[in-house]
Amino acid sequence: MKVVVFDTHRYDRLAMTTANVDFGHELHFLEVRLNASTASLATGYQAVCSFVNDHIDRSTLEVLSQVGVKFIALRSAGFNHVDLKAARELGISIARVPEYSPHAVAEHAIAMILMLNRKLHRAYNRVRELNFSLDGLVGFDLFNKTVGIVGTGRIGRVMAQIMRGFGCKILAYDIEPDQQFAKMVGIEYVSLNKLFAGSDIVSLHVPLKPDTKHIINDSSIETMKKGVMVINTGRGGLIDTKSLVSALKRGKIGYAGLDVYEEEEGIFFEDLSELGLQDDALARLLTFPNVLITSHQAFLTHEALSNIAKTTLANLEEFAKGRRLTNEVSVQ
Ligand code: NAD
Repeated sequence: MKVVVFDTHRYDRLAMTTANVDFGHELHFLEVRLNASTASLATGYQAVCSFVNDHIDRSTLEVLSQVGVKFIALRSAGFNHVDLKAARELGISIARVPEYSPHAVAEHAIAMILMLNRKLHRAYNRVRELNFSLDGLVGFDLFNKTVGIVGTGRIGRVMAQIMRGFGCKILAYDIEPDQQFAKMVGIEYVSLNKLFAGSDIVSLHVPLKPDTKHIINDSSIETMKKGVMVINTGRGGLIDTKSLVSALKRGKIGYAGLDVYEEEEGIFFEDLSELGLQDDALARLLTFPNVLITSHQAFLTHEALSNIAKTTLANLEEFAKGRRLTNEVSVQ
């Protein structure tokens, strides 16, 4: 099947081309993101493939529908950027990659915890300038600390298991708690308030939905321990950026590790080194020595890219052959 693949980088094209040997789809790679003004590039294609920062709202879907697109294969697990209701009304089916490597994301979250705690970002730069002093680099033992895991799905569970390995106590919150898992791994499900109040580190692993938007806000931050570390590899909208900046300024939040950012679209995945930054909140966040920002790269391992490519191509195959879509997402 002929497929136009939006928002691709070298690593996506390599992974998809390699996996496509088993499928033989005709893939047309584009670098531009999918939105209402680029959607007409899908003219002549029944299927498009897109990524997390594409803008698949009603107006994009209307253009896709007008040019004959019937299927969108998301190369992501999250689908908060898609207007599912509009897609259904326009007769466009959507499939996603529900799981590609929960380890990739959890391990990145852990890398952020270690880097922030042991100040490796600062140590690295110092030593390269031949400054071998240790002042300002004091961290804390993870052993015996309490980690709050918000969302114990695929990624949250891997996170809980790894942090147990460090000897941490785990407080977990999920709308669907899995007591069997809790017993097996030795974690405790508590209310969100209790989790915030009792954790030295809070790590977010829930999807972005109306009930999770700004789950970290002024009032939830007030209930947290002073100096808490907040890690977000979920979605930017889980944190109210204004509240985060204000809490960092007064030391209420002691560390923030962000792989995602509310307004990341158009910034993350791009090289803006010659253009500068228009986003004042992100610019402010970058001034804190205790804030670590990565550009939505938690998924970026060879294993995850290969799994994303294989599942995406299998989703396209099911659509092409008129089979039931195993990984379909639709309005509840
Ligand atoms: P998952 O669906 O396996 O788990 C999500 C968990 O959140 C589930 O257990 C669910 O019950 C729980 N949940 C849903 N709504 C909730 C609520 N309102 N309150 C409490 N719990 C709630 O998803 P996953 O694979 O673990 O991924 C988690 C999130 O991580 C994804 O939604 C995605 O946004 C993000 N993600 C980020 C990256 C990255 O590169 N940074 C990569 C993959 C996924």
